[in-house]
Amino acid sequence: MGRIQILSDDLANKIAAGEVVERPASVVKELLENSLDAGATDLRVDVEAGGRRLIRLVDNGGGMLRDDALLAFERHSTSKIRAAGDLFSIATLGFRGEALPSISSVSRLILETRASEESTGSMVEIAGSKIHKYEEIARTPGTTITVRDLFFNVPARRKFLRSEQTELAHIASLVTHYSLAHPDKSFELRHNSSQLLLATPVETLRERLYQVFGSRTLEDLVELGEIAKQVPGEIAEDGEEGAPVVFRLSGFISRPQVQKSNRNSIFLFVNRRLIRDRLLLHALQSAYHNVIPPHAFPFALLFVGCPPEEVDVNVHPSKTEVRFKRGSFLHDFVRDAILETLTRQRPVSSVPARETPQPAAELPYSEFTQRVENERFDPPVSDFLQPLTAVEQAQLPEFVLRPQPAAAPRFDFEDAAIAVETAPIAATPVKLRIPETHGAFPEDAILDAPPSMEALGDLRPLGQLQESFIVAAGRDGLWIIDQHVAHERILFEKVLRQRAAGKVEMQNLLMPLILDLTPAQGIEYNRIREELQAVGFDTEPFGNRTIAVKSAPAAAGVADAEKLIFEILEIAENELRSVSLDDLRRAMCASIACRAAIKINTRLDSAKIEWLLRELAATEYPMSCPHGRPVALRYATRDILKGFHRI
Ligand code: ADP
Ligand code: MG
Repeated sequence: MGRIQILSDDLANKIAAGEVVERPASVVKELLENSLDAGATDLRVDVEAGGRRLIRLVDNGGGMLRDDALLAFERHSTSKIRAAGDLFSIATLGFRGEALPSISSVSRLILETRASEESTGSMVEIAGSKIHKYEEIARTPGTTITVRDLFFNVPARRKFLRSEQTELAHIASLVTHYSLAHPDKSFELRHNSSQLLLATPVETLRERLYQVFGSRTLEDLVELGEIAKQVPGEIAEDGEEGAPVVFRLSGFISRPQVQKSNRNSIFLFVNRRLIRDRLLLHALQSAYHNVIPPHAFPFALLFVGCPPEEVDVNVHPSKTEVRFKRGSFLHDFVRDAILETLTRQRPVSSVPARETPQPAAELPYSEFTQRVENERFDPPVSDFLQPLTAVEQAQLPEFVLRPQPAAAPRFDFEDAAIAVETAPIAATPVKLRIPETHGAFPEDAILDAPPSMEALGDLRPLGQLQESFIVAAGRDGLWIIDQHVAHERILFEKVLRQRAAGKVEMQNLLMPLILDLTPAQGIEYNRIREELQAVGFDTEPFGNRTIAVKSAPAAAGVADAEKLIFEILEIAENELRSVSLDDLRRAMCASIACRAAIKINTRLDSAKIEWLLRELAATEYPMSCPHGRPVALRYATRDILKGFHRI
């Protein structure tokens, strides 16, 4: 007898379960996806003991026919695809026919279901893949699946489960995700009989966000609108051009003042399927680059829509990873759309800083979503910043991949500036009624202005605070501007623009500056010598591990040349391997800007202050410095009035 044996179905199911069912939340995910595929509009999830003891999903979907109720537990039994060709255009969330057999192999499961076209329903009781009962029952159309004692027969798995609260947090996050993807459906989550989430059907995503996260979160978000971009169809062998393909993007992204410590507030969907995708994460990260600090994460809820044949979802057993046919196009489309939206908004931070805790009454759910936020999900957070794999890189646009002496600038400053000017201000001003005796409040005071940098244009400088901060009056409140950070932003954009045009102003040194490098610095130097040249450092190797610096960027001046070169070499050492060349260039420009910018504790005369405000208003992205710190704080007129009990 040979040594190879075919595994029993039971064992094969358990192995498959290992891939599909990682923890209670994976069961919830599969059940929710099945209900959504069955057209349910009302989905109720009950869990006990963090999902270990019980997970039950009650839906009002199409249900299963009597003949199908048993078949559903066979491996690879599915009603969603029939032929191999169907794999290329999957329009349902499920298609592998693995979830129910997998879940039932590691739990005690009861299925109760009725299809609307039949007058009675079926009940199947199954534990560890063994069918214990199969009978006809009376019930309303729809499906209820009860999963008890998860991993009762896989002690090793059970041991790996985290605390009840943690498992619950994962479940809560999942239900949240799906409720966001389907605002028109009703989602309820209960734990040990207490309600954690109830989201009744609403018309817009905005309303759903409000239901789930409350008004505070919503205030920090910007809606993306419906953005679409078309790629020309592929040319077939016979020379015929195929139909163009349209990609769509909608959702919400956070203003720069929102800085999360991990990426658990990033929700990505492709055709309403919840996914984890490093290409899209990278696009998001690139858009926020130089907007928020390097190790902070935004909140983002992104819905990508595309024809099903553009995306391969059959990549991973849990269907959370996908592969795009036109990854590079999608990456740039998403990055640019987000960047443009951010730029148009020009949001500004407000004073006093908003305290985060929310009243429990408004959001009992927050406790759980918060827990997920604080926890490091797998894959680890650091993935966000890690280099992409070769496959992912292949999908990226060219500039990320290899050094090019004169790569195209990342975005067009001129266009961006125009977009900013024509952007409408969303909120409607509110008029105040103040008792006559208190004096009238100026007619043109804007009380409900959105926190926007638009107002920068007509600020009236009042003076300097501590020789470091510019204080200015605006129609929408009192502004405080960090002079160093503001100047840094101005210089950063200037140097970046000059760099992109190949016209960086440089200044020759009277005597070449001779610098000794460490071996590591020597390697980096050889790698980025042309990059140094492009920002204004004319250098030459000068003996073994010694270089001669003959010029420095005019913006930074000669005095800082040495410090700057070492700083840039250090950035290169840390960043070149993990981030794109484009990012390295931006980091270099940011260093130059930081060195050259007016320092704090520097007295400025009024002409200089006015110049600084004018230049800042003209920048493309005046709200934060290249390292992500805010440039300006606004004390809103409304808050001032509140403080004085005038409203
Ligand atoms: P898949 O979703 O990949 O088809 P599953 O194992 O998750 O595989 O489910 C098997 C089949 O059982 C599905 O194709 C579907 O026909 C049926 N099914 C599962 N859950 C439901 C449900 N809640 N309502 C109606 N049918 C369901
Ligand atoms: Mg399924």
